[in-house]
Amino acid sequence: MSSIFTKIITGEIPCYKVAEDDNYFAFLDINPNAKGHTLVIPKKEVNKVFDLDEDTYIGLMHFARKVAIALEKAVPCKRVGVSVIGLEVPHVHVHLIPLNSMKDIDFKHKVSLKPAEFEAIATAIANHLD
Ligand code: AMP
Repeated sequence: MSSIFTKIITGEIPCYKVAEDDNYFAFLDINPNAKGHTLVIPKKEVNKVFDLDEDTYIGLMHFARKVAIALEKAVPCKRVGVSVIGLEVPHVHVHLIPLNSMKDIDFKHKVSLKPAEFEAIATAIANHLD
């Protein structure tokens, strides 16, 4: 069965899309730690990050870096933090989280955003991509 993130890539499940190329996809986390919390995934469905083949792993980090640079321009923050967990969704994803304090990287700390706010953030990040 396809992962929930594969269903996002195929459009079966909606998302607030930030960026896409042939191999990678970025979208906003639906339950964000902080405003702008973004997930970057390989289209190839693999459970654990270090099980990715080396080319896909390097490509994922390259794509995530581009998204993170745009994210830092779009959302005021001290810096963008990176985390890879995967205990909830068994499809590799890199969390990019705008950080202003340590609580922003705490996955028990969540912020609530309205659909219009998600849409505005996704558009702002996309507009800052090179
Ligand atoms: P983890 O697997 O522990 O790294 O966490 C999975 C992350 O995916 C969590 O931060 C969830 O909020 C996020 N998530 C789960 N389902 C969706 C979805 N349909 N759209 C966007 N983010 C999601």
